[in-house]
Amino acid sequence: MLEKSQQAYQEAIQYIPGGVDSPVRAFKSVGGVPPFIERGKGALLYDIDGNEYIDYVQSWGPLIFGHADEETLQAVCDQAQKGLSFGAPTLLETALAKEIVELFDSVDKIRFVNSGTEAVMSAIRLARGFTGRDDIIKFEGCYHGHSDSLLVSAGSGAATFGTPSSPGVPADFTKHTLLARYNDIESVKKCFAASDEIACVIIEPIAGNMGLVPAKEEFLQELRALCDEHGTLLIFDEVMSGFRAHLKGAQGLVDIKPDLVTFGKVIGGGMPVGAFGGRAEIMSHLSPEGPVYQAGTLSGNPVAMAAGLSAIRRLKKDPSIYNILETRAKGLVGGFKKIASDHGIPLQVEVRGSMFGFFFNDKPVENFDDAKRSDLEFFAKFHQEMIKRGVYFACSQFETGFICTPLDEKLIDMTLEKIDEAMKKLA
Ligand SMILES: *Cc1c(COP(=O)(O)O)cnc(C)c1O
Repeated sequence: MLEKSQQAYQEAIQYIPGGVDSPVRAFKSVGGVPPFIERGKGALLYDIDGNEYIDYVQSWGPLIFGHADEETLQAVCDQAQKGLSFGAPTLLETALAKEIVELFDSVDKIRFVNSGTEAVMSAIRLARGFTGRDDIIKFEGCYHGHSDSLLVSAGSGAATFGTPSSPGVPADFTKHTLLARYNDIESVKKCFAASDEIACVIIEPIAGNMGLVPAKEEFLQELRALCDEHGTLLIFDEVMSGFRAHLKGAQGLVDIKPDLVTFGKVIGGGMPVGAFGGRAEIMSHLSPEGPVYQAGTLSGNPVAMAAGLSAIRRLKKDPSIYNILETRAKGLVGGFKKIASDHGIPLQVEVRGSMFGFFFNDKPVENFDDAKRSDLEFFAKFHQEMIKRGVYFACSQFETGFICTPLDEKLIDMTLEKIDEAMKKLA
């Protein structure tokens, strides 16, 4: 079934570390070879062996209109004819900036970069430059890209300062990063007690990188108040939740204004884009207006801007898309929960707009420690059974699922049938 992928993988690992350009793609936590993809259309993905999959990954979020979407392709092709990159200003950048600024009350100005990692790294530098402080707070289980100061895990003992979670990151680079527990305001207070030099708190207001774990509204309100009290900037990392959970991301669902916001994924329509924005007073510290340096040869790339603009304009024109996708996501996890319970398998589910998550866990999941108590072995077996049956779920318990517009009720019903088959086999 995966013969050609098996061969392709053997060849890839000779030339590319682990055979992949981003570690999660290697299927390490679920086993087996990753299918090598030939093409996608709408909700479906096709590998080089000719297998067809219902795709709930959608390139890890960006493709809200599905694979090879006609309108997005048209926008990309039209722009590509005019040139791939200029390294000079274009009307497209202002147009996309305007669309986003109009939607987000917290954003007066925005700058485009090439990835979520770059957006977050730059937003943190700006927060440090603006406040003149070095320390930052992040939450265990939140992912903000792979820049040095964010690759931290909890140090030993009671210390709240992080230690590098990857070789190659000097401890000197992470000693300014304090780690708090998601949805636990007391842990944040401890961080503030440990340092009065905190430039910013960065959080995924709807965490999607420890599985789907939304922050409680009250927790975010208390976080906002703590930041105000300490003159600390609050950064919402909406690289995933922006234009996914809601047209306005988490900020469309809770009434809390961050100082800075980071974007990525959907705003590039499938092309590599990231962005960060916030109040004019803060953003004006960025070069060339201000002293905080930030740059990029391909930043605001015209082809990527055209793809993003096409996607964002369509979403703005018809925000009912989010209700439709949420109804489908709820249908999927509701059905899944019922099947699991019929087979005596504990399951926690969650939905925010087009994002959904499930944990093989008998208790509600509110933070990373809870998430880690899920049955990871069962997840791996479940994932393998689903891949065999043509359903492509994210290959880790700690990821989020995505519904795209072409993924209709019929495909969801088919998925539920396959889930039932898999559960029968595994229970
Ligand atoms: C994906 C993601 C990032 C990193 O974006 P890249 O484009 O992969 O660099 C950062 N923050 C969050 C919340 C993400 O989901």
